[in-house]
Amino acid sequence: MKIEEMIADNRADCSGCEACANICPKNAIEMTRDAEGFAYPKINPDLCIKCGRCDATCPALNFEKKINTAFPPTFVATYQDDKVLRHSSSGGVFTALSEIILRDGGIVFGAGFDKNWHVVHTSAKNLDDLENLRGFKYVQSKIGDVYRQVKDALKDKKVLFSGTPCQCAGLKHFLGSDNDNLLTVEIICHGTPSPAVWENYIGELGRRNEIAHVNFRSKRKGWGSDIEINYFDRGRYFIQNSKNLYGKLFLSGLSERPSCQSCKFKIPNTQADLTIGDAWGIKDFAPEMFDNRGVSVVFIHTVKGKTFFEQTNLKTQQVKFVNTLKKNPHVISPTIADSRRKDFFADFAKNADKFAIMEKYFYEDDAEIVKETRKKNRRAFNTNLNAILAPIRQQFEKNILVAVNPVEDMQKKLEKFFERNFQNCGLYFLTPAEDEQFTCKETFSSQTFTFKDIAALADFAEKFKLTNVCVENPLSWQSQAFLDWLKGSNLPLQLFTPKA
Ligand SMILES: Cc1cc2nc3c(=O)[nH]c(=O)nc-3n(C[C@H](O)[C@H](O)[C@H](O)COP(=O)(O)OP(=O)(O)OC[C@H]3O[C@@H](n4cnc5c(N)ncnc54)[C@H](O)[C@@H]3O)c2cc1C
Ligand code: SF4
Ligand code: SF4
Ligand code: SF4
Repeated sequence: MKIEEMIADNRADCSGCEACANICPKNAIEMTRDAEGFAYPKINPDLCIKCGRCDATCPALNFEKKINTAFPPTFVATYQDDKVLRHSSSGGVFTALSEIILRDGGIVFGAGFDKNWHVVHTSAKNLDDLENLRGFKYVQSKIGDVYRQVKDALKDKKVLFSGTPCQCAGLKHFLGSDNDNLLTVEIICHGTPSPAVWENYIGELGRRNEIAHVNFRSKRKGWGSDIEINYFDRGRYFIQNSKNLYGKLFLSGLSERPSCQSCKFKIPNTQADLTIGDAWGIKDFAPEMFDNRGVSVVFIHTVKGKTFFEQTNLKTQQVKFVNTLKKNPHVISPTIADSRRKDFFADFAKNADKFAIMEKYFYEDDAEIVKETRKKNRRAFNTNLNAILAPIRQQFEKNILVAVNPVEDMQKKLEKFFERNFQNCGLYFLTPAEDEQFTCKETFSSQTFTFKDIAALADFAEKFKLTNVCVENPLSWQSQAFLDWLKGSNLPLQLFTPKA
């Protein structure tokens, strides 16, 4: 079968979504863990009837790139009850959506803990059950037969399915068509760490019956990134994820699934109705909505998603899509792991004392590797962002560079002027910045570029297909030098006098 070839040739293509195992009519597919602790399908030749349904269902084998020509409507949101908000990882959007489904007699599916603190997909039929699904778990969850359960429930109930983007894609491919009763909610996904790494970590920290609660996002000190483990009789362990052994391995991408480094299912290739995550950086783009108990960001992909979102009684505000990406690059871009990942898992696989190996990589700090990894992630982000922006830029008939008066900041006024007077144009506002540089803001995306010289501006003009430079009447200009400098771009200069 093709899925077997894919796993033999490049297992990084398999996200472990388990759609193949769920679709198999003969239960011939078992998800078995490899040496890194991630599950991959294994076909039992004695049971397989070669019907081909696994190949036809696999989201990786049947992946089709989407070309989006518009950004998803984007909101920031918070739940209006203090207790729920504090117990949710972000702003509690998951609970608000789940309540609509549960009130209607429906079922909610998501990732919870089992009695051994392993992470599994499970269901909630009421608000009490929902507690186990609330809060994120930094571990790849086991789907088991949950897609089959969803299909069954959809016969007579409303269903909310939540999970990673690859799991939402897995469910959609398993079902084969959309269903009015189904709402799919994916989380923004940095990547998911190996269940084996988690199990060794939590096993070392305490036997299962000693642990009362695990919270990967404790808000004891507000909305940040702290892990908290509560014991029945040993108090609590509370520390920043970046200083915690498990958290640091995860955040550096060392313990994540190979597919997460080339994730196919991020925006715009999402197959869910809604994407939810943290509104990181909110103080820069919607400071009035900041709440130290957590704020969610929500991306709406379908009419159904919009309808459900509008039924919640969340406190919301619409924001610009691109603004939310600056501090949350994994909305659109995969996590590039640091260069020690291969060595880490090789050591992890062959050593009996796995916790010692985790400690070794936790303590081994190399500033050069950290710097290099950051650079690679930044590069990947820029590439992905430009790929998303390209079709949107192409929609404009005219891309105009607007040189903004260097003394008086007229940007808002000019923006309105251009909106009124120019049809279908992309605007780029060029402003002299400090240290003799120039910044250029793309208004429809809020991206900012920096130039040092006119050659860089000319390159930029070519790359972004700028058709004109607009400047105010030079008589009103206080900087003739800026105007002269602009002439060097060789773009047609157009003079205008904006009137109120
Ligand atoms: C592995 C992982 C990586 C993440 N990376 C980012 C990121 O880079 N940027 C960002 O903004 N947000 C990230 N998040 C998502 C985010 O932190 C919250 O989970 C999300 O905003 C939901 O928060 P909430 O307050 O609405 O509800 P909560 O009550 O906190 O919601 C929990 C939701 O997360 C789902 N969930 C929890 N654990 C898992 C899991 N292991 N696999 C699949 N689904 C799970 C549950 O099913 C439920 O839908 C990540 C979450 C996980 C699990
Ligand atoms: S070919 Fe059919 S029977 Fe064989 S593993 Fe795939 S789905 Fe199962
Ligand atoms: S269906 Fe999912 S688990 Fe199965 S091979 Fe494809 S990606 Fe892997
Ligand atoms: S990063 Fe992509 S492949 Fe990895 S768990 Fe998240 S959605 Fe799946």
